[in-house]
Amino acid sequence: MKLVFATHNKNKLKEVQALFPKDITLLSLDDIGCFEEIPETADTIDGNAILKANFVKEHYQMDCFADDTGLEVKALNGEPGVFSARYAGEQKDNEANINKVLKNLQDKENRSARFKTVIALNLNDHQLLFTGICEGIILKERKGEHGFGYDPVFQPNNFDKSFAEMELIEKSKLSHRGKALQNLIEYLAK
Ligand code: IMP
Repeated sequence: MKLVFATHNKNKLKEVQALFPKDITLLSLDDIGCFEEIPETADTIDGNAILKANFVKEHYQMDCFADDTGLEVKALNGEPGVFSARYAGEQKDNEANINKVLKNLQDKENRSARFKTVIALNLNDHQLLFTGICEGIILKERKGEHGFGYDPVFQPNNFDKSFAEMELIEKSKLSHRGKALQNLIEYLAK
């Protein structure tokens, strides 16, 4: 079985392929000749995952899945949420995004936050959504060198290290994306 994963990111594809059963071959957007950026104009995480999965279905008539992730900070009313990549501006600068979250939380006691990933799957003319959530807190300063995005300031509950202090395999077992993927894989295996 062949399934498109709506990403241009070869590393992400490799990571996800490693978790998938061997009889499912994943194809990236580049593999199917789609070299453009799919617009992410929805105002929810679910909406953006659906937009990307539907784009592939409509333009390439192939079964596919797409993911979208956001960091939701309680004391900031769920911000940055769907705007996580461009919280501090269109340049999508991770360091500036972290600085903005830390600044906005400066005088807040509640530092609870969660990452949420939604995967939209288009398979045989029907659509399903799979969600993965990882609860934690926003640290007062950066810790660790691994990962990307908000990893240096996000510490999952029941751990005393940030995502950026974990190896990829450890993070994948408890992360939002890992959980959403596991739900998708269990469904496909049925
Ligand atoms: P995307 O939907 O996977 O592109 O994620 C949107 C944005 O959320 C990214 O640009 C990052 O800023 C942030 N993000 C997503 N996943 C993670 C993660 O696992 N760790 C830290 N930040 C993340």
